[in-house]
Amino acid sequence: MCGIVGYIGNKQAWPIVIDGLRRLEYRGYDSSGIAVLDPAGDLKFRKSTGKVSDLSASVAESPVDGMLGLGHTRWATHGKPSENNAHPHTGHGGRVAVVHNGIVENFIELKRELLDKGHVFSSETDTEVIAHLIELGLDSGKSFEESFRETALRLVGSQAIAASDSYEDEKIYAMKLGNAGGIVVSHNGEEGMVCSDLPAMLPIIRNPSASGGVVFLESSEMAIVSSTDVVYKDKNGKAIKKKGRRVTQEDVLVDKGGYRHFMLKEIMEQPQSVSNAISERIDFENGRITLSEINLDAGEVQSINKVMLIGCGTSLHAAQIGRHLVESLSDLPAESESASEFRYRKYKVDPDTLYVSIAQSGETADTVAAMQEIRNQGGRLITICNVEGSQSTRLADATMYMRCGVEIGVASTKTFISSLTILSILSAYLGQERGSLTSKDIREF
Ligand code: GLU
Repeated sequence: MCGIVGYIGNKQAWPIVIDGLRRLEYRGYDSSGIAVLDPAGDLKFRKSTGKVSDLSASVAESPVDGMLGLGHTRWATHGKPSENNAHPHTGHGGRVAVVHNGIVENFIELKRELLDKGHVFSSETDTEVIAHLIELGLDSGKSFEESFRETALRLVGSQAIAASDSYEDEKIYAMKLGNAGGIVVSHNGEEGMVCSDLPAMLPIIRNPSASGGVVFLESSEMAIVSSTDVVYKDKNGKAIKKKGRRVTQEDVLVDKGGYRHFMLKEIMEQPQSVSNAISERIDFENGRITLSEINLDAGEVQSINKVMLIGCGTSLHAAQIGRHLVESLSDLPAESESASEFRYRKYKVDPDTLYVSIAQSGETADTVAAMQEIRNQGGRLITICNVEGSQSTRLADATMYMRCGVEIGVASTKTFISSLTILSILSAYLGQERGSLTSKDIREF
């Protein structure tokens, strides 16, 4: 994961973009950068390795003036963490700024094609080909929108891109391709933002005149954001309507609440997370579990013959424990597997298996890709997730929310505990509905 933040409006862009990048640091980072369109119409770039605070200090020393800015925190996939490889990237004409989340799987072919045309590259990243391809389109007389869209459609793989240029009207273009990396868009009539995740949206959400809510782009959708409005288009350039979702400041506001570190705060919040996970799902008096959110009636639960749990990282550990929970609390066999292995197998989805994915953010690329495969083959899919509206929740038939609030610490604490709590409840529910657990068992458990 990485973080993308784009701002266009009536204020100096750099403090807002850097503030947004700081709020996305939980997504991981090794370097960061910003590009600002200055009043003379030139793009000014600043980059730094390390933390966003290092970038912030260097920009504060020599600020970049302008009301359109694009920023990025990088988590390198192609090319080491370095200033040259940090985003935003530009082409050989320096006319465009591109930030990118994900992997351009066919970047070698595209780079060869550009090298043959005489393009000179200044980084080792896959991302830089995007900037060169957009410039190639502009050089051949196409509009920025056309060049951006056509470039995006040449990229193989899952990714999110945002870009601006120094020639045409001041706008930010953003597109999501496949399932890696979210793009959230918001506009309050005077300012627009394009970000990887909600916390970076705070300056817009905070504004009481915020009107349009937030919009999550789906794959192959594009947003064109100016200082006055946002236009949404499909991959063919046809305008589409998107419905905004209301969010409150609380949805996006995160602070350390007096603790020295987010991780410490989140460890202290674990009891509350467990309590939230149990709430309304367990009737302690009658020894019954009610999971209306998973939409599985008793007949469907009877027809399940296996549970398959998938996840990555900490969530894979939760899945591995979940396997034991299912086996010990219900009469069903269970398996767990790393989503990054699962997605590359020639796996034949079994209609009688219940698939359960676990992903705190709901955006983990391998988990989302595995879920997409299960969905494509018509499998029954439940996700355990902490982030409302995330990709996992949109792909699954049903979501069991962790209800933990935002988790910033990169090492999972409260979301891990919450995953285990929910897996326990789900396993016991399967046992209850299949008759292998009595209400006395459940009460004791
Ligand atoms: N593939 C790009 C790079 O290595 C983007 C990585 C990211 O998502 O941060 O620069």
